Amino acid sequence: MRIPVLIVGAGAAGLTTSALLTQHGVESLLVEKRREIFLYPKARNLSFRSLEILRGLGLSDEVHAVAEHVSELVTKPSLNSPLEEPAIDLDAIFAGLDTLSPEPAVQYCPQSRLEPILLAETRRRGSEVRYGTELSSLESDGTGVTAVVRDRDSGKSETVTADYLVAADGVHSPTRTALGVATRGYGALPVFVVFVYFRAPWRKFVAHLGDGDGVQVKNADVQGIFIVAEGDVGMFITTYFPEKGETVEQFTPQRCREVLAKAIGEQIDIDIIEIAAWQPYEQVADQFQCGRVFLVGDSAHTMPPFKAGGANTAMQSAHNLAWKLAAVLNGSAGPALLSTYHAERHPVGRFAARQSLSGPTLSLIRLDDDRPFLPPEEECSMFALLIGYRYRSAAVLTGESVVDPDAVQLVEELRAQPGTRVPHAWVMHNGRRVSTLDLLGPGFTVLTRDERWCAAAASASLAAHRIDSDEWAAITGLGPGGALLVRPDDFVGWRADELPADPEHELRQSLSTILCQ
Ligand SMILES: Cc1cc2nc3c(=O)[nH]c(=O)nc-3n(C[C@H](O)[C@H](O)[C@H](O)COP(=O)(O)OP(=O)(O)OC[C@H]3O[C@@H](n4cnc5c(N)ncnc54)[C@H](O)[C@@H]3O)c2cc1C
Repeated sequence: MRIPVLIVGAGAAGLTTSALLTQHGVESLLVEKRREIFLYPKARNLSFRSLEILRGLGLSDEVHAVAEHVSELVTKPSLNSPLEEPAIDLDAIFAGLDTLSPEPAVQYCPQSRLEPILLAETRRRGSEVRYGTELSSLESDGTGVTAVVRDRDSGKSETVTADYLVAADGVHSPTRTALGVATRGYGALPVFVVFVYFRAPWRKFVAHLGDGDGVQVKNADVQGIFIVAEGDVGMFITTYFPEKGETVEQFTPQRCREVLAKAIGEQIDIDIIEIAAWQPYEQVADQFQCGRVFLVGDSAHTMPPFKAGGANTAMQSAHNLAWKLAAVLNGSAGPALLSTYHAERHPVGRFAARQSLSGPTLSLIRLDDDRPFLPPEEECSMFALLIGYRYRSAAVLTGESVVDPDAVQLVEELRAQPGTRVPHAWVMHNGRRVSTLDLLGPGFTVLTRDERWCAAAASASLAAHRIDSDEWAAITGLGPGGALLVRPDDFVGWRADELPADPEHELRQSLSTILCQ
């Protein structure tokens, strides 16, 4: 079988990559060794930037149908207690971010609900996703990738050749290991977590809470968090301490039933489904590209879930890569464009992983002090983490020299600086109120107030929109003759503050430089 892109792993990273590639008209084969979609929620909330990516895919309605709000977390001494208080002040964490996007600052949409949406979209647009199929070997040279994929049920193997391979195969990425790509960071944190998956009539004690809401229980005997998986299937998250002689093996089904009874506050029938140990990682690959293979998601950058960044950052890396792969495959860009993926996402991945050493959900679980901390003076705002970074690479034209290409560059505000996500403002378009982000299609787009830029864009076969808005002018600081050239991932690639003598020439030249032609 020959395919333009082979994707390994159907988590948030792999499925976002496959859905975005189909939007760009690129066919892919996605193989996933799991036999079915993961039922249990891991990532639970999507940030506005991930929601914008889904909006660009036309999936907003489906995602908003999952929930209208972020998931709440409450604290109780036991599940059956009438006492209850908010566990974290989510409004305070996301304060001020809701004006930055047409999407809510954050919304509940667990992976168990997101993955089927992305899967259906990928298949609807004609790309193939095979569950129960694993990548068993891989060779790559200057011309392509040859991989062997094996059907786990039949045992049958098939050789797949692809132009490019996207390794979205998770924190332990077998592809990354096979390619010998080193990682940096703390690695596995000394935070020892047990997930107890169970079925029980437990939700009657918290019937007023929604599917997305979690309950932290804290009493003298037990501390942990209840999360809904589906129906009466729940997940209880607790920690253990190896230096006190505790092991995960001590969490037998009988012991888990006792722990759950103490957390619930009374005996009820509990069926233990599965008990799994887990440790968070802070780990970033040294290279996100190895020839024709790209690491995306946790295989590239794994972060502790304390700032809820893992799946969100994974989706954003997929968004950065997908249009570049498509542009190179369809011949509109030179292959050098692909190296801007590492240049742009490695600093952001390292930053997000390190920032995630601390975070609001840390206070919810019982921990030792023996774990790495983020010094308070290093702690950045949620704005910086979610959107306040600026790419610097060959695909961003600034005219400024880069001092340390691997250091993340942060901005205080989004003002249409090249390398930042284009600002959001509500504008009128064809009689409808839309976000400036809604004006962007899957290709490059020129945004301007001046009709002459629109004519130049049309001659250069680029989409263009006139934005006649004082608010937009104030946010971007663009004069009446200015324009932005926005990349397919919504980031500003180039900006002109004035109308040049030959705008079409300038546009063509900027585009061809960004596309490494
Ligand atoms: C408890 C917990 C809470 C979390 N909370 C949040 C949160 O609130 N917000 C957030 O953004 N993130 C959160 N995360 C992190 C988030 O789940 C991960 O960052 C995200 O799932 C990474 O997605 P991925 O696609 O890169 O990797 P994964 O979801 O791990 O997917 C990798 C896939 O590759 C498959 N695979 C591996 N090897 C092969 C092979 N050889 N062949 C075929 N398939 C293969 C695996 O089966 C797997 O399905 C949380 C994680 C955990 C564990």
